[in-house]
Parts: sequence; C-alpha cells; structure tokens
Amino acid sequence: MSAAPTAIYLDHQATTPVDPRVLDAMMPWFSETFGNAHSEQHAWGRQAAEAVEDARAKVGALIGADAREIVFTSGATESNNLAIKGAVRFALRHGRGKHIITVATEHKCVLESCEAMTEEGADVTVLDVDGEGFVDPAAIADAIREDTVLVSVMAVNNEIGVIQPLAEIGAFCRANGVLLHTDAAQAAGKIAIDVNAMAIDLLSISGHKMYAPKGIGALYVRRRPRARLLAEISGGGQERGFRSGTLPVPLTVALGEAAFIAQSEVDREGERLVSLRKAMITRLQDHLGEIAVNGSMDQRVPGNLNVGFTAVDAEALMADLPELAISTGSACTSASVEPSYVLKALGLDDAAAGASVRIGFGRFTTRAEVDAAADMIIEAIENHRSGNSARAAE
Ligand SMILES: *Cc1c(COP(=O)(O)O)cnc(C)c1O
Repeated sequence: MSAAPTAIYLDHQATTPVDPRVLDAMMPWFSETFGNAHSEQHAWGRQAAEAVEDARAKVGALIGADAREIVFTSGATESNNLAIKGAVRFALRHGRGKHIITVATEHKCVLESCEAMTEEGADVTVLDVDGEGFVDPAAIADAIREDTVLVSVMAVNNEIGVIQPLAEIGAFCRANGVLLHTDAAQAAGKIAIDVNAMAIDLLSISGHKMYAPKGIGALYVRRRPRARLLAEISGGGQERGFRSGTLPVPLTVALGEAAFIAQSEVDREGERLVSLRKAMITRLQDHLGEIAVNGSMDQRVPGNLNVGFTAVDAEALMADLPELAISTGSACTSASVEPSYVLKALGLDDAAAGASVRIGFGRFTTRAEVDAAADMIIEAIENHRSGNSARAAE
C-alpha cells in the first residue's frame, strides 16, 4: 500500500474551505463597492444595503424564514450566546421564568452560555442522550416546568453528526409556550431545515461550516410568535437592535451566496457524501474487520463519520498520519487530552473514546482522496497492531 502523494483534508466539521463561487461573489465588496450599508443617503451605501438585503433573503430561504428574521453575527458562537443569554435575560428582567433545558452533547458555547446564566439567577437542566446520541423528546416534555423559558437542542452534532428529532421537540415547546433554540452550525446547508415545520424560534448558523469565510454567521429570530431577546452589544441599533455594529458587507454577501449554493445542491451533494462515506467504511472494514461507528448511522448528516478502532490510541494514530487531516473530537477541546465528552455521553469508556476519530467529508472531497485516506489509516493501524508504529519505536 503506498502513501498518498499529497495531503488530504477530511476535517470538514472543524471548518470548510471558502467555495470559489463564494469568494468571487464577495470580492468586489471589499474595494470596488465598499459602501457602509447603513449610509442610506448616498449610492455607495444604498448599493451595499441592497447586497446585504439580498444576502439576508438567501440565508432566510435556506431555512424557510423571512429575510427580516435573519440577524447577521460573527459566527455560531456569537449567535448561540445571543440566543441563550438574550432570551433568558429578557425573561429574567420581565419575570417570565428562569429555567433552561439543554443536552449534554451540545457545543461548549451552548453549555457555557447556559452555565453563565446561572450566575444571573437561571436554573439549567442538562439532559442525557442515549447510546446513539439522541435526546428523547419525551424527556424534554417531562423536564419542562412552569418557569421554563428556553430549550436549546442542536440540530446536528459536530462530533458524531447525529440529527436530533427537532420537529417533535418543537411541537412540545410550542404547545408549552417555551422557546426552542437550535445550534444549526453543522446542519444548515447540509440537511433540509424548515423553521416553521419544526417550530424553531431561534437558530444559529456559522459561515465557515458551509463554505463561507470565518467570522460571519447568523441568528434566526422568529417574528410570529415573536421571540424576545435582550441584545448583547449596544450601539447604533443595527440588525433590528439585536446586534449593533457596522455590517461586514463582503462577509454577508459571502454567507448569502454560500446559502444559495448549499440550498440548490443539498440533495445531490448529500447523496454524493453518503456514497463517499460508504466507500470509506467498506474499505476500512475489508482490511480491519468490524469497526465501531459512534452515533446513529441512520439519522446522521451525510459528511460525518466517527469510528473507533479497538486497541489503537487515536492521538498516536494521528501523529503517524501527518498527511491526513482528521480529528479526535471537537477542535475546540483538542488542546486538552481529555477524551471527548460527547463520546462519553454516548456511554463510551475512556479507552473507547480515546480510540475514536472523526472523519469529515466535504464538497471538494473526491473518491480518490477517500480511497487514499482509507489506505493511510489502514496501514497506520496495521503498524500499530503489530507494534511498530513511529510512536512505538520511540
Ligand atoms: C463550529 C461550531 C460552532 C461555533 O461556530 P463559530 O462560527 O466557529 O463560532 C458552534 N456549534 C457547533 C455545533 C459548531 O460546529
């Protein structure tokens, strides 16, 4: 088995490259048409404002929302902070409740935002998931109290790709007058999402997870029935007062174009990614025997695979594969050697979690890359199992 001639990037849940079509669309807005979208008195400003509104409509269309319900932010971290802190602070201030329900496998920025609100008087319930990674909608219904303000459940998990049953959860929340927020950073543009069909009130999007640049994102804020939030950033009152500050016009144009492309290609691209993933699993299994897939294979975003290899340390495996970009979990926590809290929430022990890798396929991933990457992994694991890896030889 020969090593791949060039490096291969299979870490598309950490970030994606900017699509060349997105880059083309955003470039003129840096220096040719550079107006401030809030300077409505002259043509420069009006032209920029039109581009921003066009982008806002495209982002809205991706999730079945009205353009007026889209608030541009710097990314999903900011959107999640604004949704959670904004909704809970509004409720606390107006005596409308103080209880938040979320899930153990959420992204750190959701868990930490909820935790931060306890210092301001909120109560947080963190629900467990089952062995496949699902939260039980009935458990959410049971956890809803008189003073529950907000339920925050991610659409797709960033480590295991599992798709949560949002429509069912949304119906419970709506019936109980509780807001539903979803972190859709890994879902928007990857699977069909409709904020009305799913009764979602607040939804977070990240540009750099969907082939737009880093530093742009959006928060969907429902108008009817109205989701009420306190703003985090004070200033000129842009973005309907939810997020002051001059809009980065090129980045908003980029997010709009990325949303438009993703929406038009989602079905075809989903099928392509599923077949790439299948090819990877088959090739690994043919050489290594049964491999353990972490999380549901049935309700899973097409571009994600998370697998455990018995008796192989994932960190050591990755150290042996400098040409291959895969990951041992979420990039945000990879500085620590702690096993993934997401995998542990599924019931994996430290050894099984520590033997697992996330493989993320993307828009520009080819079948040849998948085959080459599989061969690299197979070779490294066979070396590990026979005890002659680079690490073992040290
Ligand atoms: C990447 C990611 C975030 C953070 O998004 P940024 O735009 O990088 O701030 C939040 N939640 C999930 C599920 C993510 O995958």
